[in-house]
Amino acid sequence: MVRTTRLYPRPKLTGTPRKTDGGIPLAGIYDYLEDKDGILTVDGVSSVELASRFGTPLYVYSARRIRDNYRRIHDAFAARRENFRANYAVKANNNLSVLDLLRQEGAGADCAGPGEIRMARSVGFPPDRILYSGNYNSDEELRYGLESGAVINLDDGPLLERLLKFGTPEALCFRINPGFGKGAYPGVVTAGPDAKFGMREREALKAYRRAKEAGIERLGVHMMAGSNVLETPYWAAITDRLTGIAARIAKALRIELDFIDLGGGFGVPSKIGETPLPIQDVAKKVVDAYERRLASTPGIGDPTLMIEPGRYLVSDAGILLASVTHVKTSAKRFVGCDAGMNTLLRPALYGAYHEILPATKLRARRSVRANVTGPICENTDMLGKDRRLPRLEVGDLLAVLNAGAYGYAMASRFNSRPMPAEVLVVDGEAHLVRERETLDDLVRGEPVPSAVA
Ligand code: PLP
Repeated sequence: MVRTTRLYPRPKLTGTPRKTDGGIPLAGIYDYLEDKDGILTVDGVSSVELASRFGTPLYVYSARRIRDNYRRIHDAFAARRENFRANYAVKANNNLSVLDLLRQEGAGADCAGPGEIRMARSVGFPPDRILYSGNYNSDEELRYGLESGAVINLDDGPLLERLLKFGTPEALCFRINPGFGKGAYPGVVTAGPDAKFGMREREALKAYRRAKEAGIERLGVHMMAGSNVLETPYWAAITDRLTGIAARIAKALRIELDFIDLGGGFGVPSKIGETPLPIQDVAKKVVDAYERRLASTPGIGDPTLMIEPGRYLVSDAGILLASVTHVKTSAKRFVGCDAGMNTLLRPALYGAYHEILPATKLRARRSVRANVTGPICENTDMLGKDRRLPRLEVGDLLAVLNAGAYGYAMASRFNSRPMPAEVLVVDGEAHLVRERETLDDLVRGEPVPSAVA
């Protein structure tokens, strides 16, 4: 008899972690993962089957979880404010099938450059539902953005003159640095005195004046102040700060605003025991602060409230499956696998924490402590340090959780390792949604002059 244990219960906004009989702690969010006789399954598909059909390292996403995430955050805001829109931050995970799924759910797209605009357009996002938030743009990028029909979000006032050389957009917005930001790691704080992004209020005022003179009809205000924030009070404070700036600009220039975009940054727990963001509460506090400001600013109009979550929609909907390739005991115990910092950069880049499950030995006693490493020639190549794991052997599978955002998107070919494959599980069926690169892909497109001669 196959025994099935739900590893994680349906999403709960609060709650204390529990343990399954296999000793696997519960995060309260991975409701699509199950323990089937000690083997991890993803929306009903066995990790062993996934690895044997598609190979490893392999990113696996749950379509159901992505949908649930979108509906949860969208509905929390839309229930409180009709004039609301959510754009998906494509940079978090640019897989075309993920984009298509979110487009079908009704999301717009937040794009960081021409590549993301091209990808979003290819799955049918209409140009007017794309916001192009670049920074340090080249002229070619500005021109591409304008010609694509996307709404352009400029990161600095002087960029406007360069954009106007190519034409006058109907809609435009500027990215404001509200003076403070927040993030799970210093590297993901994107506002405040050290941030390379956005404009201070006095520079913004000049830029909006110039945009008005240029005859741009619809003007918006944007910020993106930090990523992976799990604290509710921050959201009310940052909304209040940005809308305060927006209100002063609108009053000084006598303009109605078309939209105010609070950016992304909605956090996802990475450690067992962290409390998920209480999104209903966050939405209430944000909408209350937003509408209070509109009510006290006659002439500002009825700007659409916009957000652009990336991580919140996809992070906990994805895992990275890796095969154990070698186990070594020297000064420490190392479990080596075929995924490294080239596959998932976040631990090396930010010191980000990802839970790691022994996907083929879920019920084995976790009797050893080990560092989980990949095959890359850097000592920062650690997916996890000092983790409690069972005794693992070559061929066992590991599942790195919370890998759906900034996973594949930040992966590289470092050490000349081909890019991994991606699979989307839809209604219990696994679909290959990005092919694994081969060694031959590594030597394509690089003509060698001496060989050509
Ligand atoms: N919008 C902009 C302009 C960003 O730069 C980012 C992330 O860097 C996001 C949205 C998405 O952020 P998150 O994934 O934290 O929601």
